[in-house]
Amino acid sequence: MSIMDYTIEGYKNVQAKQYIGIFGNPIKHTLSPVIHDTLSKSLGVDERYIPFHITDNLKAAVESAYDEGILGLNITVPYKQEIMPYLVDIDPAAKAIGAVNTLVRTEVGYMGYNTDMPGLAKAIFSEGMELKDSKVVMLGAGGAARAVAYMCLYYGAKRVYIVNRTFEKAKNIADDMNTEFGKECIIPLSAQDYKSIPEDRYIFIQCTSVGLHNGDGLPLVEDKEFYRMAECGVDLIYNPAKTPFLQLIEEMGGKAFNGLKMLLYQGIMAYELWNQVEISEELANIVYSELKNTVYSK
Ligand code: NDP
Repeated sequence: MSIMDYTIEGYKNVQAKQYIGIFGNPIKHTLSPVIHDTLSKSLGVDERYIPFHITDNLKAAVESAYDEGILGLNITVPYKQEIMPYLVDIDPAAKAIGAVNTLVRTEVGYMGYNTDMPGLAKAIFSEGMELKDSKVVMLGAGGAARAVAYMCLYYGAKRVYIVNRTFEKAKNIADDMNTEFGKECIIPLSAQDYKSIPEDRYIFIQCTSVGLHNGDGLPLVEDKEFYRMAECGVDLIYNPAKTPFLQLIEEMGGKAFNGLKMLLYQGIMAYELWNQVEISEELANIVYSELKNTVYSK
């Protein structure tokens, strides 16, 4: 089977000199083509970004992509872990996080990276926040939270509390990351123990999927007073633009940012790896406007 057999409606007849793309399931609603095709167009590169709908046999799909010359791939839900055995090498940060979202072509196969982690960091810095010596409260301990916890320690956060519905998952991330960085920096908590977090000013990062669907109620910790400790709050979710978590952050006096800039920068960093270019902030802002138009004008 050719890799092009996995493309979705709207991409079947796309012609370009070079192809990049994304593996996922479902994949129809991915926004990534907006990022990469805007970059290629602006830079005058004859390269197109193709969504590939992979329902099974991931190994065969990666092999076809490589054999047919695909320059690079993003990997999204549900394959960020499953892809790892099919790569020739994995960047140390991606290995420690345990998830790969970007494949870069080498002479012997694809190498795996995680650009979600530096992508979120860049988004945070671009909003004027610092991670060095910061204190962080994370809500959630799923796949994305692993990258967030790694990011906090990598950039020098002083203390991180991970609050999760399932305590064991928070503990697993805390144990793995504390071991990885050789310090006892992360403290796992179950949701009902949130009051044990000492009174202080924190960066709050919302990493659960609560708020993703219109009609989702309050965030994991429902107590409004809790959010008074937030200097600012970042939600990884970007659609809807203002989740109940972000509403609470603002209501209690904190600055609130959603996950659209994380999406932007993880994409830009992947594009830079594939094409060996550096994307200017000016171009990043153009892509960001395109993204906002696409997501929020519907
Ligand atoms: P996972 O499925 O791996 O983790 C889901 C998390 O949400 C877990 O902590 C889970 O808790 C919690 N959760 C789910 N339902 C509930 C509920 N009803 N009450 C309380 N907690 C709940 O998802 P990911 O980590 O992959 O993704 C998390 C979010 O981040 C998603 O909304 C995703 O869209 C967003 N994201 C955004 C990105 C971006 O570029 N902006 C990139 C990646 C992710 P438990 O452990 O107890 O099950």
